[in-house]
Amino acid sequence: MHTGSPLLPLSHELDSFASPEAFDPGLQDFLHQASDLLCHWLAGASGRPPLPSVRRQPDIAPGPIGADSRQLLTDLQQVMEGAFQPSHPGALAHLDPPPLTASIAAELICAGMNNNLLAEELSPGLSDLERQLCRWFALRLGLPDSGGGVLASGGTLSNLMGLLVARDRLPEQQRQEGVVICSADAHVSLLKATRVMGLRGDGLQRLPVDDDGCMAPEALEQALRDLQEQGRSCIAVVATAGTTVRGAVDPLTAMAAICRGHNVWLHVDAAIGGVFALAGTTTALMDGIALADSITLNPQKLLGITKASSLLLLRDPSLLRATFSTGLPYMDTAVGDHHGGEAGLQGTRPAEILKLWLGLRQLGEAGIEQLLQAALDRRNSVCRRLDAERLDVLSGTLHLLAFRPRGIHGSEADLWCETTRRALLQQGFMLSRPHHGQGRCLKAVFGNPHTSEEHLARLSTLINALVDR
Ligand SMILES: *Cc1c(COP(=O)(O)O)cnc(C)c1O
Repeated sequence: MHTGSPLLPLSHELDSFASPEAFDPGLQDFLHQASDLLCHWLAGASGRPPLPSVRRQPDIAPGPIGADSRQLLTDLQQVMEGAFQPSHPGALAHLDPPPLTASIAAELICAGMNNNLLAEELSPGLSDLERQLCRWFALRLGLPDSGGGVLASGGTLSNLMGLLVARDRLPEQQRQEGVVICSADAHVSLLKATRVMGLRGDGLQRLPVDDDGCMAPEALEQALRDLQEQGRSCIAVVATAGTTVRGAVDPLTAMAAICRGHNVWLHVDAAIGGVFALAGTTTALMDGIALADSITLNPQKLLGITKASSLLLLRDPSLLRATFSTGLPYMDTAVGDHHGGEAGLQGTRPAEILKLWLGLRQLGEAGIEQLLQAALDRRNSVCRRLDAERLDVLSGTLHLLAFRPRGIHGSEADLWCETTRRALLQQGFMLSRPHHGQGRCLKAVFGNPHTSEEHLARLSTLINALVDR
């Protein structure tokens, strides 16, 4: 259970705040040792299970006097030993890949700078960096020159903000009765959003998916006509570009055409799939995304940008201010377009842009493409090997895969998933068991760059052997 990191004697005292006048050797020493801890933790990843079996409880409350740096490092180490380890090659359960090294360093620098994206005067360069990188993303996804957006601490917030902007396009008296349409496989954050928005209980309409896990355009057309007959407005249609269980992509182009026809906002929840539009070889997977009015995209889910990293991109980003601006009476006037706190739901927020920007700089175009393609290749490799005679393999076009033995559902499926999940965990593979359709299935996400072809072969063999258990 020990991370094996040697805690060296600290030769300098650590002050609570770094000296503003002279280089602080105490801080340097402390950061060196803290990063040693981290490097050892990462280095030991494959030697320990992705999920620790026991977890010691650290001291919770502050002591009567402040802890010294050795104690602080010991405290940190204790928490790290009980943490989930995304760098384990068998960590395949969720959309939580290992962190990019540049992203780790950027997070540290971000904390050290402690700027605030609330207002330009508290983050002059970083506010600008955020605006420009959002614009880069918007253009890369094919939005018009005017496109741009804002960062948010997770896709849940990006989706909520997108829907709030969409609702503001409706006449005021139609807003509360309004309806959001998505597919049955869309993410639960949409339910949370419609609740927060105070919509009626039936304010989120989930349309059934076809055999490929996608919304059927005809069903969307019908749902919009039905709403019209009922005299209710559609706030937005949400297309999912990468469903959370099987990685299916709704037919974006067809849905966009229907939305245009009905003059309805199209939000694309591309929290999972949006990054595939960044590389030439994979961009076809996101065909039609450029037709969206707003897009949620989470670089934290596949690119290894440290959490949280999500963007809300808009065809017309000036709508953000129209929806969220209150005036910031305690702040100086912004020299750029607006203060960060005027363009979204969050007030004070860290410069999450830094780890995104530096992470992308580290990868480069080639690195991004390689990461995306490798994730798809890993999925294909397992898909090829799984025994499709005996397993129902639910997949879409992205790097996720869900499966369960053919013909079982309900409690039988639950039991098989739990037993199999545990057996796989003992072999160093962490999968998840989401609810889907008629019971649970097992799910694997192939965004972990440490998972080799050998791991995949072994995993597939294990799964095939466990089908009849
Ligand atoms: C993960 C996910 C979200 C929510 O993102 P968070 O960052 O977890 O808040 C939204 N939509 C989809 C499709 C997702 O997979």
